[in-house]
Amino acid sequence: MKIAIPSGLFDIVPTKTKQPWQQIELWQYVEASIRSVAEAFAYREIRVPIFERTELFQRSVGEETDIVSKEMYTFEDRGGRSMTLRPEGTASVMRSFITNAMQNEGSHHRLFYFGPMFRYERPQAGRYRQHHQFGVEVVGAGTAAQDAEIIDLLYTIYKQLGLKNLRVCLNSLGDSESRANFRAAFCDYLNKYVSDLSDDSQRRFETNPLRILDSKDANDQKILEEAPKLQQFLSRDASAHFDAVQSHLDWIELPYTVTDRLVRGLDYYNQTVFEVVSEDLGAQNSLGGGGRYDGLLKMLGGPDLPTAGFATGLERVVQAMINQGVAEIAARGPELFLIALGEEAHETAFRLLHRLRNEGIACQMELSKRKLKPAMQMANQLKAEFVTVLGSDEVKKQEVELKRMADGEKAVIRIEELVQHFKRSKSHV
Ligand code: AMP
Repeated sequence: MKIAIPSGLFDIVPTKTKQPWQQIELWQYVEASIRSVAEAFAYREIRVPIFERTELFQRSVGEETDIVSKEMYTFEDRGGRSMTLRPEGTASVMRSFITNAMQNEGSHHRLFYFGPMFRYERPQAGRYRQHHQFGVEVVGAGTAAQDAEIIDLLYTIYKQLGLKNLRVCLNSLGDSESRANFRAAFCDYLNKYVSDLSDDSQRRFETNPLRILDSKDANDQKILEEAPKLQQFLSRDASAHFDAVQSHLDWIELPYTVTDRLVRGLDYYNQTVFEVVSEDLGAQNSLGGGGRYDGLLKMLGGPDLPTAGFATGLERVVQAMINQGVAEIAARGPELFLIALGEEAHETAFRLLHRLRNEGIACQMELSKRKLKPAMQMANQLKAEFVTVLGSDEVKKQEVELKRMADGEKAVIRIEELVQHFKRSKSHV
């Protein structure tokens, strides 16, 4: 009996799939590209466990959020403790910062992570029960410049991957004084409409009214049209901070839209929040988002340092690349595919394969001694850049013919010069 993959999960494989976004080469390309941008922005990698004590997420993400109230994979371990597969990365990174007392090594830390996240959501396109995120966390910098820098980082990542038609939505939730004033006016307004609100929003009216701004319910949205706006309640400081974030983005000509209903799904945000959406993703159009969450580290028992960050889902990035036709670059095969005909050539080719690989040149050889035609088919399938066929003649002359698969161009090279040849062409890329 075949055992099916659990619903909402998927594999990422090195073979052709019905879903081109599940192709491993694409993921490797995306991950390598993101990593190099993150390093150019001087961020350092952190790796944290995929499960934590349940209370970590309850306290940081917030009891009232969808994530904690209905989406967590929570289980009791054999010691009777409640554990949860992480639904997001920020809480774990903050916990790790505290566990490792990172503040002892300076007051400014710039961290990034990659990894799977787990949420029990209704599976649909762009929504999975295990998805992957890349995210960053900055600890110790509370400035508007820092907010602008992480937005720049996220935007640069998408641009480097070739994504187009992006919209950067930006908002400020203000400091706690701004939010308290807004909440009072907002609740005052909503009081008249409570019974007309959706069930979710009625519940949030009691527990966390700001999140009503997030509601996708059409009737809720209509009620919200006339509601007071957060912007009108920003304190002088919060307003200056928000203006400065915008100035920094203007200086680097990063386009954004101030979106006054953007509040983000999690409880821990204050001041700047942002989200990048793609027009080419359908209903689940949020590629990534983040903002500032000063106070989170302290609330979890750590030092009182400001924190900001973002996370982007990798599934949606890969899918947007495919939808926009910019995913082709990723599908690169080996640089060279060797085909040997006959025993003597097999030995020469096998030695050559070893030498090339030791010099970091990605190559592959037809090892099961197939005939020329199926071997060439294999080279094509693998998308090899060059192919060379070695027979007894080539061994005698110590020369091979390299064929570039893209255009059929041929060049004769001495076997002993082959390694140098590939190393030279690599250094020109
Ligand atoms: P969030 O932590 O909810 O702000 O999510 C950050 C990013 O992760 C989103 O912008 C999405 O790109 C991605 N994401 C969140 N939930 C899922 C999911 N269930 N499946 C796929 N991607 C997701």
